[in-house]
Amino acid sequence: MIFKWLKGPEYLMKKILLLTTGGTIASEPTKEGLAPGMDGNEFAAYLSGLSVNHQIQIKNLYQLDSSNIQPEEWQGMARAVADEFQQYDGIVMTHGTDTMAYTASMLSFMLQNLPVPVVLTGSQLPIRHPLSDGFENLRCAFAMASSGRAGVFVAFDRKIMLGTRAVKVRTTGFDAFESVNCPYAAVVDSAGLNLNEAVLPKPSGNFQLIDNLCDNVILIKLTPGLNPEIFDMLLKMRYRGIVIEAFGAGGLNFIRRDLISKLHQIVQAGITVVVCSQCLYERSDFTIYQAGQKALESGVLQAYDMTTEAAVTKLMWALGQTDRPEEIRQIFSTCYAGEVSLT
Ligand code: ASP
Repeated sequence: MIFKWLKGPEYLMKKILLLTTGGTIASEPTKEGLAPGMDGNEFAAYLSGLSVNHQIQIKNLYQLDSSNIQPEEWQGMARAVADEFQQYDGIVMTHGTDTMAYTASMLSFMLQNLPVPVVLTGSQLPIRHPLSDGFENLRCAFAMASSGRAGVFVAFDRKIMLGTRAVKVRTTGFDAFESVNCPYAAVVDSAGLNLNEAVLPKPSGNFQLIDNLCDNVILIKLTPGLNPEIFDMLLKMRYRGIVIEAFGAGGLNFIRRDLISKLHQIVQAGITVVVCSQCLYERSDFTIYQAGQKALESGVLQAYDMTTEAAVTKLMWALGQTDRPEEIRQIFSTCYAGEVSLT
């Protein structure tokens, strides 16, 4: 059910924290191409329209192209939110678009039962550019951050998506993100911010910061005839988790190059393997085909309709908490932040 968000005084003067981390939105031309150069104070000059309706505090966390955002930064962001959220109605985080989907997923897992909105946004053109999409994205992010609805979200091109469902699908278009296998959490149109109640997270306990993670996780996209020996190398390199984007609804090669036996060996050796589909939309189901059922028998976990970004970050997060296979299986059979439909 969709309800229209209040347009009255409740909307006004919410206390919002803006955390900046870099990305195109904060970038400037340099001799080597666009690079993040604006700090929080410089950003403030571009927020005059928003400061009419909100009390805004700005904190500069990082000045990074999001290609350089890594697990250490995810922990820094999660800790910054955990330290600050009690003093604000909501938090907006500016971030590069390239890895925003990974960050949004990871923060969704790390910030359990977060009682306020944290809304990630960015832009395809720097905010200094006269035609930047940054203003519109920021305006929508601030509206969502003022909504009082808890959770981690991505705001882009007038759409608000669950952090665990957002995927970057365009390199340059302003409609760069899609909500994959899940309706939008809200859309912005002439009626205001239209929230979709069915999608919004419902916190069910006390807030908890769970920010341990394991960065020895790799993503492999299956290609026809992939040589199974690659997995021996990963074992030697002490990888603890592997996400495999398999074919279609769920299938892996087992004639001539027998990937299934190899997966069995590495699962026995203690590596967690999660299989998902390389198709962007709809769920994987490894029970449909022989080539999938054999994989399940080898002990791999299914990602069902999770995005690849959610599957990778959930595996990193799960392995940060435990190395016991039954506990990891239990984590993967639990939906924490709208990331998976388990029915
Ligand atoms: N390379 C940029 C980044 O991810 C792209 C962007 O922000 O749109 O930081």
